[in-house]
Amino acid sequence: MSSLQKTLFVLLVIAFFITGAQAQSKKGAQNSAFSKFLGGFSLHASTGFGATFYNHEINGPGILQKTDGNVYIFNNFYTVGNSIDTGYSGWVNNAQASSNIPVDDQDFLLGTDSVSVKYQGVGGSIPISLTLSYTYDRYRFGGGITYEQSFSAKFYPNVEANNLQAFRPDYVTASIIRYYAYLGGEVYRSKRHTIAVDAMVGTFKLGKKKFNPDQVKTKLFVNIGVSFERSLSEYFKVFIRPSAEFKSYELAVPGVGYTINHAMPALYVNIGAVIRMPNFKKCPVSQCHAQINHRHGRKVYRSKMHPFWKWQDPDYGQNYPELIKYKGKNKKKKNPY
Ligand SMILES: [Zn+2]
Repeated sequence: MSSLQKTLFVLLVIAFFITGAQAQSKKGAQNSAFSKFLGGFSLHASTGFGATFYNHEINGPGILQKTDGNVYIFNNFYTVGNSIDTGYSGWVNNAQASSNIPVDDQDFLLGTDSVSVKYQGVGGSIPISLTLSYTYDRYRFGGGITYEQSFSAKFYPNVEANNLQAFRPDYVTASIIRYYAYLGGEVYRSKRHTIAVDAMVGTFKLGKKKFNPDQVKTKLFVNIGVSFERSLSEYFKVFIRPSAEFKSYELAVPGVGYTINHAMPALYVNIGAVIRMPNFKKCPVSQCHAQINHRHGRKVYRSKMHPFWKWQDPDYGQNYPELIKYKGKNKKKKNPY
């Protein structure tokens, strides 16, 4: 992913806050089309937990399984005697060559041109996402970035379980960065709750420290989820979003001219918050105690009694759910008014 896209994203986020601050400072101006437009923007921030189901198939090269746990793939056309000229390990993230690998009687040799071997394993991950979206009618579109720490998996072979051994890559955690376009549709809306079906489509990068960038080539990814959102106030929501993701990368093993396709489908559950840009200015009338969006003259204002994080029924407001006569010392009075 280019630095141009990164720059664009950062600029978008900065623009979001600057235009928001300006809208706040222009008190008393007439409700403009511009502030209405601003009110369509939302910033989503979330984190959560994911499980990635790594799998890849070795189909073609030979496999040498040493009894000590080391495992190599090698060009099947080389004659195998007491040793192998060149074998490669670490084909999940960074394939490395070893020369003159001895083959003992106890070691296991397999030609995968006839029997392919599928290795699979599950690894957890922790994603942190930031998405900027614009809502139009029931549709949302925008873009975002996700940073993820993913834990490596232990890979188990699907055949020859007595001879082949499970292995772990040489890293514990790796970073993944995604840049994506965001699309969604709100399928349910009530005063307090929204359910949206949404998708992220974009590119991802595996951390260069653990994944050799000369060997690894990532493809587009798609993430499809359902966002269950609860409004805490007119401008502030919390949500939980289960999702499924499809992504994969190729690793070209140098020397054998062999490319391994690594699939890494994943399931996630994210929890987060959405902040919406206010589309009305705060009411400037000092004595005004209106709790909901209201008019003074030709302009609509949002209540200044109304904390941005607090739930207010949009139809009547409820800043003080407890009546004054039941509060504090008034509780004891027969006639508090
Ligand atoms: Zn007012």
